[in-house]
Amino acid sequence: MKRFALFLLGLATIANAATWVFDRDILEQRLPLGVTIEELTSVLENEGVEVCFKEQEDLVLWRGTRAFISLAASPFAPYHLWIGVEGRKTLDECTTNELAELYEAIWKGRKAVAETTGATGFMIFTTEEMRNGKGTSSVGFEIIPSGFNENSGVMDAVEKNLLNEYVFYNQFPFRSVSHNPETVLAIRALLSTLEPEVVPEKPQGMWTQKFLHHAESIHQNLEWIHDILAQSGALIKGEMPSLSEETGKVHEILIDLDKCAFCNPKVIQKQVVYEKNGIYVLMSHKPISPYGNFLILPKRHQCSWDLTRDEAVESLKAVSALKKMFNETTGLNNWICYVQNGPTVGQTVPHTTLHFFILPDRLKLNMTALQHINNQRPVLSYEEMRANCEKVKQLLQPTCEE
Ligand SMILES: [Zn+2]
Repeated sequence: MKRFALFLLGLATIANAATWVFDRDILEQRLPLGVTIEELTSVLENEGVEVCFKEQEDLVLWRGTRAFISLAASPFAPYHLWIGVEGRKTLDECTTNELAELYEAIWKGRKAVAETTGATGFMIFTTEEMRNGKGTSSVGFEIIPSGFNENSGVMDAVEKNLLNEYVFYNQFPFRSVSHNPETVLAIRALLSTLEPEVVPEKPQGMWTQKFLHHAESIHQNLEWIHDILAQSGALIKGEMPSLSEETGKVHEILIDLDKCAFCNPKVIQKQVVYEKNGIYVLMSHKPISPYGNFLILPKRHQCSWDLTRDEAVESLKAVSALKKMFNETTGLNNWICYVQNGPTVGQTVPHTTLHFFILPDRLKLNMTALQHINNQRPVLSYEEMRANCEKVKQLLQPTCEE
């Protein structure tokens, strides 16, 4: 009888034996300092956990002459791509041909993922900052797809108005996302045939944006402001008001394309800093950064970030010039640049725009609160705006002409 019970117990132990499957790259990056994978493995095995490592599939999906497209090593969303340039660490080290190829790879990656997954939005961004302790070894753009069944991560961030924190400061709730191997194969196949093209667009009709004015997101923004003030000791007493009960959480706004802000000569005249080969560099009238926000856009109307070779090269050179200007005048290199491509990543103006700004460290974690306050500031007058633009123009011109 006793022997039989022991036998049952043995079976139960076998049935409960856990197998933990790890991604070695991510584990290496995230293990606390001083702990090796071998130590962790031996501790786990002593506890009856079987440790396995996932076979590393080849993450590289496409290789050009200098640029390449790969699946991100620690993705925030399925089919999160990394577009890099071989042997280059910073954007300003890239030659004109490399910049053109970098842009073309971004274009191909975006289209291939859209076609195979049905993604309707892409957060496209780059920074040379360390993000959450992680640096990058080569210049590169990340592309996070959004708006398809398998992925709600970026849309969550847009609805909560937390995109900046999620994307730029790696504050995505860490998750291990899985790829459908067939989709990855289909992306690879498309990448070998796709060629960048620009389909001319005319501003007409209406543009729908559904993810703004979310009552919960406004409440959340207030909570950020509340917490920052409370933590600083400035707010002595005060509770958060309760969330107002609104029937529809998501408001839909319609934007009339005939009134595209960036096809309006008055807007351009007021905000332009620099123009060259089909692009404008504008200053935003609602800057989130005390150093100003810059908008780099094609002169012609284009909703998606589909640029000609000249526009693409000039846009990326403008990023390098802005970076250099700030570095020379402020000593800061805390820059970010991004494109919100599509309504499911919060694009609100239907004329594609590359955003660029620098934000000192102390302001970073308060970005959402800052943005909320900035959004309610009065718009700068024509004279104030021109004065700011002229000041920057003097500083930017020399770095643009190098
Ligand atoms: Zn336009």
